[in-house]
Amino acid sequence: MATMAHRSPASTGHGTGAVPIELDGLTHDYGSRLALDHLSFRVNRGEIFGLLGPNGSGKTTLFRILSTLMIPSSGTARILGFDAAREPNRVRERIGIVFQARSVDIKLTVGENLKHQGHLYGLGGNRLKKRIHEVLERVALLDRINDNVEELSGGMQRRVELAKGLIHSPEVLLLDEPTTGLDPGARIDLWQYLRTLRDEENISVLVTTHLMEEAEHCDRLAILNMGQLVALGSPLDLKSEIGGDMVTFEATTPELAAELGERIRSRFVVEPTVLGKSVRLEREEGHRFVAQVVEAFPGLVESISVAKPSLEDVFIQHTGHRFWTEAQNEE
Ligand code: ADP
Repeated sequence: MATMAHRSPASTGHGTGAVPIELDGLTHDYGSRLALDHLSFRVNRGEIFGLLGPNGSGKTTLFRILSTLMIPSSGTARILGFDAAREPNRVRERIGIVFQARSVDIKLTVGENLKHQGHLYGLGGNRLKKRIHEVLERVALLDRINDNVEELSGGMQRRVELAKGLIHSPEVLLLDEPTTGLDPGARIDLWQYLRTLRDEENISVLVTTHLMEEAEHCDRLAILNMGQLVALGSPLDLKSEIGGDMVTFEATTPELAAELGERIRSRFVVEPTVLGKSVRLEREEGHRFVAQVVEAFPGLVESISVAKPSLEDVFIQHTGHRFWTEAQNEE
């Protein structure tokens, strides 16, 4: 195979040594709109990897390329050593995909849905029967095998989707915004199932999300903004890179916030970020700093908060703007 020659030993072919997902200069444009801009990173075996980004950051585009539904404009996406664009069939055999939209037939039973899915992958007979039992046990739905999907709760239906994605024993599982529409309890459950797959079957899981609290569950994250990789690492590492405390001062107007930012900058030799009515900065021993600022500029500060850095702070630090724009909040 011509493409094999280009692979590094670690990612050659399919097998235990192959890198689950490896992007190299991956770029995609829709005409004049650049959706993915030279992305290069890896997803390791047995990790839950999150693609975190606001709307329009390129998550869906990347998800489609990894699922072999779209060919990138340039660069490569390899899954278990196979090029998603050139060897889509080899990739498809090895990945499980859970789309955001429902793909099960709610008029059929849980078992029937999985049987049809198994047939698509060439499974049948006792082998398929055994596999259906295994995957349903994994997602704790074996006792619902004969129920129509429509009789199940939203969380259970999502777990049927997960079981469907697992039927052919994939080594890599891709999930697009998997907890959308689920209540908090069902969300926690779903994450627990994903962790079980990681821990007991060494499956590599890639999850797209636009929710910071979801991203916190991931082992590592790629944070995307306008098609670019802005940060890569574990949630904890990314937050610790910021350092001390995040201090936010609110002013009554954006103009006063700008003035406060400027005065803090020249007085304390720091680089605050002014966003609307707030002035944010990172500082060791934030509470002491707050006291100094309030003493120095008493009339300008309306309210104050001191907190440990969040993923939102990571995003702001790397992009200079908020994760959620006003327009997105109104959606
Ligand atoms: P996300 O999933 O993070 O919201 P997308 O991958 O859907 O991001 O979109 C990335 C960028 O590509 C956005 O600017 C979006 O408007 C644009 N885009 C997405 N799909 C299309 C399309 N079919 N045609 C033109 N532009 C598109």
